[in-house]
Amino acid sequence: MEDCLFCKIAKKEIPSETVYENDSLIAFRDIDPQAPTHILIIPKEHFASLEEIPEEKKGILADLLLAARQIAKDKELSRGYRIVLNTGKDSGQAVFHIHFHLLGGRQMTWPPG
Ligand code: 5GP
Ligand code: ZN
Repeated sequence: MEDCLFCKIAKKEIPSETVYENDSLIAFRDIDPQAPTHILIIPKEHFASLEEIPEEKKGILADLLLAARQIAKDKELSRGYRIVLNTGKDSGQAVFHIHFHLLGGRQMTWPPG
């Protein structure tokens, strides 16, 4: 999608520190990390949020989560990690191209802010 930051990152029009990539998704380091490891995992196809994933594309969600699990393993987050999917304005979603946050490398707190 034109004028979408994460589409541009997926197409390498904007540089990012890629940590994992396959035909359908890409994972890269967050520009403003909130934990020692903070990686964003996105589909290359544009969907604004979870709300826009159609039933017939639900496999994308599993692919993103399993990629997050693999990256957590690669980054040796054996003590645990948190996966966040902000959806909509009240969640704090700022970039409207669906992305999972993978956070690890420190003790997380609950409740989230
Ligand atoms: P959201 O609040 O939408 O769930 O998260 C958006 C995330 O994208 C934020 O954590 C923010 O730091 C990250 N971000 C925003 N712009 C860029 C960018 O240009 N490059 C990278 N790597 N991350 C970005
Ligand atoms: Zn996009």
